[in-house]
Amino acid sequence: MSTSSTADLPTDPTAALASRNPADPEDVVTLVEPVGAAAVARAAERARAAQPGWLRVGAAFRSGALDSAASALAADAEGFAALIVREVGKPAAEARGEVARAVAILRYYAQAPYLPVGEIHDPSAGDGLLYTRRHPHGVAGLITPWNFPLAIPLWKAAPALATGNCVLLKPAPEATACAARLAGLLAEALPADVFSLLPGGAHEGAALIDVSDVVSFTGSTAVGRSVVRAATGRGIPVQAELGGQNAALVLPDADIESVAGHVAAAVAGYAGQKCTATSRVIAVGSAAEPLREALAAALRDFPVGDPGDPGTACGPLIGPAALDRVTRLQQGVAAAGGRVLAGGDRLDRPGWYSAPTLVEGVPDDHPLAVEEVFAPIALLRTAATVEEAVALADGVRHGLVASVHTRDLDTALALAGQLHVGMLKVNAPTTGVDFHLPFGGSKASGLGPREQGRAALEFYTESRTVSLLPGGRR
Ligand code: NAD
Repeated sequence: MSTSSTADLPTDPTAALASRNPADPEDVVTLVEPVGAAAVARAAERARAAQPGWLRVGAAFRSGALDSAASALAADAEGFAALIVREVGKPAAEARGEVARAVAILRYYAQAPYLPVGEIHDPSAGDGLLYTRRHPHGVAGLITPWNFPLAIPLWKAAPALATGNCVLLKPAPEATACAARLAGLLAEALPADVFSLLPGGAHEGAALIDVSDVVSFTGSTAVGRSVVRAATGRGIPVQAELGGQNAALVLPDADIESVAGHVAAAVAGYAGQKCTATSRVIAVGSAAEPLREALAAALRDFPVGDPGDPGTACGPLIGPAALDRVTRLQQGVAAAGGRVLAGGDRLDRPGWYSAPTLVEGVPDDHPLAVEEVFAPIALLRTAATVEEAVALADGVRHGLVASVHTRDLDTALALAGQLHVGMLKVNAPTTGVDFHLPFGGSKASGLGPREQGRAALEFYTESRTVSLLPGGRR
């Protein structure tokens, strides 16, 4: 669920927003000065002027630039991780993991400029040559959420830059300080105007779509749909990675203790604020009773605390609106006919903390059953058969990722073919993805081509087909 939707943003586009430490809201990490639409347009002009030069510098230069950005980030790993902890409340171990992943993303895409950019074919008849060649779109407009304030901007920017595009990044207001640190680091590695940061909110995001040649968005489903409408209205390529309401399906033959640990981490790690978090747990047949006990215990014992403490796995929520929403849902469970099995309220401490929570028994149309909440809360459901579990899992509008827990390979493979999701994990949490494979969701969880890996290199380029006949022919 979005905590920075259009409705939350000030109507005056020049008003300063504050990015606050979710564990200590008195701590203003930075003020956000939205740049305004005119500055977005000027940045796009400069980027468009710089782009042919950025393409002409050649593969070795682009590769070297991404590689030196990787080295600079690796050298700043501890400082960057500490800023992620402070600005978005990500537990320290995960923040360090995000920085390490971002370094790996830069190194991976640093190889991309050397990859082939097309194919050669024989013509269907006669002499000559047919070839395809991929060209960058020009100016890539990136609009990103706050929850992976380094990895998401980079997994969009790195392939866009590697393929010869210039990049304009509009980060989430809540992650402005992280974006500024990233921009500073990239400025050292790249020529002027190849990468520009455009702080702000919805106004700047909308303005960016108006001046870009390709748009990549990650965020909530509601905002993403409006972004896709605006971009397709201009006839430019767009991809949107959106929300999730991810299910873990637990079969009776699974190792319930180990599943409870995986699922609890996917529900409550980083306070459930990952698009890939588990928010629905579907126990099949006799798995229900032991799983109910084991998962409730795992969530009750889940290490909640200051995100800077090394033992913390669940820190605060990003802001007061997110905390109010989940608290209202927790407190309304009994009135809706459900039961709270673990947690069930906000925590009585400074900062925007909610207890890891497991509930069951709410009606089928309850928000916990049909909406993304983006908090450390999951709904436990039971299914008599695997078929019923699949119907429950697929019975929501989202389709980002699901996990299946079973020792039966046939069942796992059958479910991999049936579940309507972009990604499936077998005997692993819904959270955690590899950055070199296509990433994205089905149904309301994603629109347009996938991100990451080769899919990203294709998204940020356009293929041109050239037919070449020998000269002097009539
Ligand atoms: P959000 O939709 O509120 O904001 C995302 C970005 O869009 C921000 O930069 C915001 O300023 C900008 N924006 C807001 N309104 C806009 C508009 N009208 N036009 C253009 N830009 C606009 O999302 P959030 O709260 O920052 O992030 C949480 C959401 O992101 C969750 O729904 C989560 O599931 C989703 N998410 C998805 C993925 C994925 O890959 N599928 C990954 C991470 C987060």
